[in-house]
Amino acid sequence: MSDERTPQRTSTGPRKKRPFQRRKVCRFCADKQVTIDYKDPRTLRYFISERGKIIPRRISGNCSKHQRAITEAVKRARNIALLPIAGTHVLP
Ligand SMILES: [Zn+2]
Repeated sequence: MSDERTPQRTSTGPRKKRPFQRRKVCRFCADKQVTIDYKDPRTLRYFISERGKIIPRRISGNCSKHQRAITEAVKRARNIALLPIAGTHVLP
């Protein structure tokens, strides 16, 4: 007697999983109506982390020109207390 056991194989197609998709084009280049303004913390907040750090260009997807404008705007906004410098208090 031969006991044939067929191993069950679930056929899963090749799935490529990406960590997260980066935005290809810079948000400000794509949409000309969006302007970088240090008086507009809502736009800037999109480019800073919860801790108040500026998100690097390779993650935010900005071009160098606009990333620099963001950096400048964030720094200015910090000066006039529109944005936090160190974010909320970080507990150890
Ligand atoms: Zn740009």
